[in-house]
Amino acid sequence: MKKKIIITALSCAVLGALAYFAYVFPFYEFEQNDYDTSLDKILSLDYLKMLAPLFIIVGLSVVGIILIILLRKRMLKKDKTYSRFAGRARSGKTPKQKPIPYMIIRWIVMIGFGFMMIWGGLIFGLRMSSVSIPILSCPWNTEQMTESSCYYLSHLSELFDLPIKNILLFFGSTLLFIILLGRAICGFLCPMGLIQDIMDKLRRRTKTEGIPANEKLYSALTPIKWALLLIFIGLCFIGGNFCNFCPAVATSPILAGMSTSLYVSGFIMIFVLIGGFFKRRLFCNICPLGYFIGLFHKVSLFRIKKDCTACTECGACYEACPMGIKQIYTERGKANVTDANCIMCGECVKCCPEDNALSLTCAGLKLYTSSRKDIMSGYDPMKK
Ligand code: SF4
Ligand code: SF4
Ligand code: SF4
Repeated sequence: MKKKIIITALSCAVLGALAYFAYVFPFYEFEQNDYDTSLDKILSLDYLKMLAPLFIIVGLSVVGIILIILLRKRMLKKDKTYSRFAGRARSGKTPKQKPIPYMIIRWIVMIGFGFMMIWGGLIFGLRMSSVSIPILSCPWNTEQMTESSCYYLSHLSELFDLPIKNILLFFGSTLLFIILLGRAICGFLCPMGLIQDIMDKLRRRTKTEGIPANEKLYSALTPIKWALLLIFIGLCFIGGNFCNFCPAVATSPILAGMSTSLYVSGFIMIFVLIGGFFKRRLFCNICPLGYFIGLFHKVSLFRIKKDCTACTECGACYEACPMGIKQIYTERGKANVTDANCIMCGECVKCCPEDNALSLTCAGLKLYTSSRKDIMSGYDPMKK
């Protein structure tokens, strides 16, 4: 515990120093308020210029990913036993499970809300400008949509300057969404989750090995999460701006035709892309907003349920979980195994080989249940 507190303090100091230098020398700076999404603008050279920071971020991330792959190959070459077995594993084909409706719906919703995060302000901004929901609302996208929950949670002093009606609307709509959906917001709605899931899919498609996630990694990430949480809530009291750290600022406003200055957010976005490529949802493991939403998991409608009598303790659910939640595997008595970190991605249910051992429910209704038949659907005994 003492070690974690020291590492948290050090992380705060490093992130603070990084923020200060990035503030003095912004990664990329454009004039604000040149919001224009007309077709002429989008097809113009100016718009391409506006996308330049995005190209830089993607370019640096690709270079980073290639360097890590090369470095790892070089290191593994020396380990003859590992490279022999790794080679064998890569040569085998992984059977493909049949498409699962829960996963298809999750992807459709994620893509839809990713679109809304970028252009939702433009579509709904004027009509919903007093309602705070955790998406549709990044104030950097458009000035029409200023009631963003993450913005005001990290700028509390600005929130309390608003008229009482707006403050009540803020707390009402934010809490309603967070309480009802809990961290299903992370699994279904957050565009940063979508970006990380896309990076994970890219890694699988390119048959690149990920970073083996273990308890050591998750425990090393905890102090960074605390440091970011302190910055998220604390900066507003000492005159800072958490949005300078937010990776979403480095992408969605630019795509929406609204140019912004990138401070630390551009670098954090590179971390999100490279990290998300090698370890699924790496950033979600340190995200302060996700942590905040997780505090309400006990009252949210979504749950992971376990039938401990059907569980054979194989550990596949823990292996598959991008948030490293051990209790879905270790729990031997309770039916409710929902954890504050659970993003309702359904990966544990998908990988569980026992009928009904794990299920994902909403308001008591089963949405998705583990099934041996689903797992075996990728195997065709007639095929060699
Ligand atoms: S943890 Fe943060 S980045 Fe990840 S999905 Fe949730 S809100 Fe988005
Ligand atoms: S417990 Fe299951 S649903 Fe929750 S994050 Fe882990 S894999 Fe996803
Ligand atoms: S994957 Fe299913 S059977 Fe295996 S440990 Fe997890 S709950 Fe139990």
